[in-house]
Amino acid sequence: MDLYSGKINKLIEELSSLPGIGTKSASRLAFYLVNEPEDRVKRLTEAILDARENIHYCKECFTLTDEEICPICSSLKRDHKTIMVVENTRDLAAYEKTGRYEGVYHVLHGAISPMLGIGPNDIKLKELMKRLEGDVSEVIIATNSSLEGETTAMYLSKLIKPVGIKVSRIASGVPVGGDLENIDEVTLLRALEGRTEL
Ligand code: ZN
Repeated sequence: MDLYSGKINKLIEELSSLPGIGTKSASRLAFYLVNEPEDRVKRLTEAILDARENIHYCKECFTLTDEEICPICSSLKRDHKTIMVVENTRDLAAYEKTGRYEGVYHVLHGAISPMLGIGPNDIKLKELMKRLEGDVSEVIIATNSSLEGETTAMYLSKLIKPVGIKVSRIASGVPVGGDLENIDEVTLLRALEGRTEL
């Protein structure tokens, strides 16, 4: 069914392939964009390209940054002996927004999921173990409370405990299956403060 021109269809198709964007939102966005002034659309596309080209993983914690070492890892004010392990950069941002966590992070970029065929080698786990060879006193596991997040937490604690580093898990004030980024700051802080040693 060809309701619109081929070029509009193409744009709708591209937009609807983005996470969280259904066909309806995609067509709304497409029509909005083609009616915007050209320089506005240019700024948007340039911002996307610029981000794509210049953003990479921090060499320490693997969060997304446009510097070699992200501002958190290079800050002298942070406690570099405490590492909070999160699934992705959005979760890191959620904890950063509370402004109360003083340690550093490690971003796994995923979680172990036998169902989806994602194993320990598919996330930044080796990189975490490498960091633990340094001076680290506690690893706080803040993966999501989904099945994958819990599986990853269990795997991590089994891996880290023999190294002799304290491992803790954030409290389960975080609803099951809930993404950290959707949880309010008070709940996040409570989960952090109520963490239990594994
Ligand atoms: Zn970093």
